Amino acid sequence: MPGIQSDDGIRITALSADIGAALAHINELSLALKECVEAIVRHLDAAFARIWTLSSTGAVLELKASAGIYTHLNGNHSQVPVGLFKIGQIAKERKPHLTNDVAHDPRISDPRWAAREGMVAFAGYPLIVDDQLVGVLALFSRHPLSEATMTALESVSVGIAIGIERKRAQAALLDSERRYRFLAESMPQIVWTATPDGGLDYVSSQGTTYFGIQGENLLGAGWLAAVHPDDRDRVVNRWQQSLSSGEIYESEFRLRRGTDRAWRWFLVRAQPMFGPEHQTLSWVGTCTDTHEQKEGAEALRIANRELEEFAYVASHDLQEPLRMVNIYTQLLLRRITIDEPSTNQYADFVREGVRRMEELLRDLLSFSRSVHEADTDGTADLSISLNDAIAVLRTRIEETGTEIKCQFLPITRGDTRQIAHVFQNLLSNSLKYRRDEPPVIDISAEQQNDAWVVSVRDNGIGFETRYADRIFGLFKRLHKEEYPGTGLGLAICKRIIERYGGRMWAESTPGVGSTFFFSLPQGEEAQA
Ligand code: ADP
Repeated sequence: MPGIQSDDGIRITALSADIGAALAHINELSLALKECVEAIVRHLDAAFARIWTLSSTGAVLELKASAGIYTHLNGNHSQVPVGLFKIGQIAKERKPHLTNDVAHDPRISDPRWAAREGMVAFAGYPLIVDDQLVGVLALFSRHPLSEATMTALESVSVGIAIGIERKRAQAALLDSERRYRFLAESMPQIVWTATPDGGLDYVSSQGTTYFGIQGENLLGAGWLAAVHPDDRDRVVNRWQQSLSSGEIYESEFRLRRGTDRAWRWFLVRAQPMFGPEHQTLSWVGTCTDTHEQKEGAEALRIANRELEEFAYVASHDLQEPLRMVNIYTQLLLRRITIDEPSTNQYADFVREGVRRMEELLRDLLSFSRSVHEADTDGTADLSISLNDAIAVLRTRIEETGTEIKCQFLPITRGDTRQIAHVFQNLLSNSLKYRRDEPPVIDISAEQQNDAWVVSVRDNGIGFETRYADRIFGLFKRLHKEEYPGTGLGLAICKRIIERYGGRMWAESTPGVGSTFFFSLPQGEEAQA
């Protein structure tokens, strides 16, 4: 009869409405499922109804809600392996199991219990969303279930499955949000997020502690009030630039500390989080206090600069008085007529002292120049550098019968003249620290990523590996007594190479020979 619903129809409508409301309004999954099974028992007059959800491993069904004559969750059926018993089988087959003849149903595992309790009907449904099994809904009834009820229960089970999935997703989202918030709050830095238009929408508690103001006062553009006035324009321009281009934001500026109103330097970085269509969803940023490092680095820079200037002035200005000592000693010696061996010996000491001093001043000056004069943007043609170095040392090379082998040498970042100086120092050391046999020096270059690594290998006296770093220090010498020198040559080489963004190091075996390596970034020509 149109317009009038049957009893079944009314019950089913009420059941669907109650289940829809439970899933929509109750956040906690187990409470919502409890409402659902209670609604089933209430509206369908079921003996009891239960819902199991699939464990995260996918192997076990866990009883989450039970209503009717059994409400406990910890009995025999609290954990049902997928595939076992009628519930596990429904899960495995992903098909409902429905019967109005429990007494003769082979799947009912305890027919005596069913008879004793007067159970007539059983209905079990797999709970499936997007092809994924999320659980099982089942009920026993002491009266037969109509066709309409069974069909209605099928659609109820779809609703419950979607509800379970949605609540799990919400819980997972909440959980991950909680984790990220915890992460943000436990970092030493101030962590913040901003909307795509650049307004802050979250600042971690480290921020409120540092600035000494309520978090909400920092939100939007509130944080700008804590930026040093001299840095503000730069900071805002740079931030605008990142907001419009989507490139990573990185800037160093001063932020005022709330407790003592002191300005401290911070490194502020932010990265955009993109959505599926590459649209910016949000910005995630950090402020790292770099005040101490920055002040320390500045103090070190000033101290180094002063030291370098001192070395330059001292080495330069001491040359003149030394020349005077030299000239006047020679003149004095010419006037002394007593031909006594000790006088000549003293004269030799003075000459040797002056020579060593000159050598030291020359190396010191060249060390200072290596710092002051470098043009770090140019290129060096290493084959010209090597040829120049060989030309300077030609006489010593010939006298010692040295064989120099060289393969291709590239063009690198650097300065041809300065790198010639490096080769000259290295070759001169190989000639000096030679063994009794004629020196053989092998020079080669190998490309490694964007850099060239040049090696200068000799067959000299070598040194122990543990000294490989020390010899690059100022005035550091391993063979003090036996060989002349100032201990500045390698320090100069290292300084020159590092100026151009390279590295210098050495390997050696005593009595076999040494290899000195330096790397230099590729020259522009090579990169093109
Ligand atoms: P110097 O040669 O004036 O002493 P360097 O700075 O050029 O100063 O070298 C530092 C020390 O490293 C040398 O005193 C020497 O002990 C060691 N050394 C440098 N080059 C070689 C080499 N080719 N073979 C063995 N030892 C070397």
